[in-house]
Amino acid sequence: MALNPTSLPVVHKKLDIIPLEEIQKVLTEGLPTNFKDVEVTVVDCPDLTKEPFTLAKPGLSGSTKLVEVGGPPYLLPTVQKDKVYDLRDIAKLSDAKNVFIIGAGAGPHPYAGRNCEGIFNLVLENGTVNQQTRIAKVTPVNENCSQEILPNTETRMALLGNLFLSEGKPGKVLKVHAKTRTGRKDFIASIRECLEKKFPDKLVGLGGTFLLKEGIAKQHVMRDFSTTPIKNEEELNKWLKFYNMSAPLIAVGTLVNGDGGLDLRVQHFHSFSNHGEAGHYHIDVTPETVEYLGYFSVGEEIYRIDAPEETHTFGRD
Ligand SMILES: [Zn+2]
Repeated sequence: MALNPTSLPVVHKKLDIIPLEEIQKVLTEGLPTNFKDVEVTVVDCPDLTKEPFTLAKPGLSGSTKLVEVGGPPYLLPTVQKDKVYDLRDIAKLSDAKNVFIIGAGAGPHPYAGRNCEGIFNLVLENGTVNQQTRIAKVTPVNENCSQEILPNTETRMALLGNLFLSEGKPGKVLKVHAKTRTGRKDFIASIRECLEKKFPDKLVGLGGTFLLKEGIAKQHVMRDFSTTPIKNEEELNKWLKFYNMSAPLIAVGTLVNGDGGLDLRVQHFHSFSNHGEAGHYHIDVTPETVEYLGYFSVGEEIYRIDAPEETHTFGRD
């Protein structure tokens, strides 16, 4: 079961659309604060269905939207297990019909039998589902991470999610290639902060994918729901299970340069792999050897769905 979509509040806002060439310039100037080798270009999107990305659609263009559903207050301090959403409903509420959805959120716990991460990557087209979403769980007893792909019959997510919706069409995208991290910011925060500094009066959102090509990333997977309330960041970090996960990792998600008065999570990327590892991206732990390759598209609109009425600021790292 999923929540009735008519019960879900939706707030919709236009994002500021900055030309790709202008973002290219801003990142070319700003990213060297955190990375030694930086190359930002505007390119035709490569076919993302091919290796190494293996996404469910080739491109990131056409009716681009950022969609944030729910939020950390539905997980913390105490889980609200009824917060289960069907992505087919979320697409409708976001005025999207035939749609390619990628992003980061909580996986469908009613399907998994326990709390899990969702690495969303699916196509809803003419009533059919091409589901390439992975979920990641912490295996009881040995606490290893396990990754599995969802079947086409399972289109739910839970609790919270940051999704990028498009028609999955080929088109111009921003290519960001960065090697050797010299600053303290992760790849996405580095991009985000360039946009924050340059466009403080605008609301700019990007969505897309990046490959951790070389190196190792610190990623978490949520353990099963805590039986006691999680009241602060310290308790949260004890409850989350952290792993060092190896390249190649394929990440999907969104970033925005501000809150926009919508209580937005400013960045959220999850990654999957073909070697069994998957989770929530924090940062690489191998700055000297790390290499990132990202493709991003600019969001035209943002949809904030079922935002928690009472919010807090922890659990958003
Ligand atoms: Zn996450």
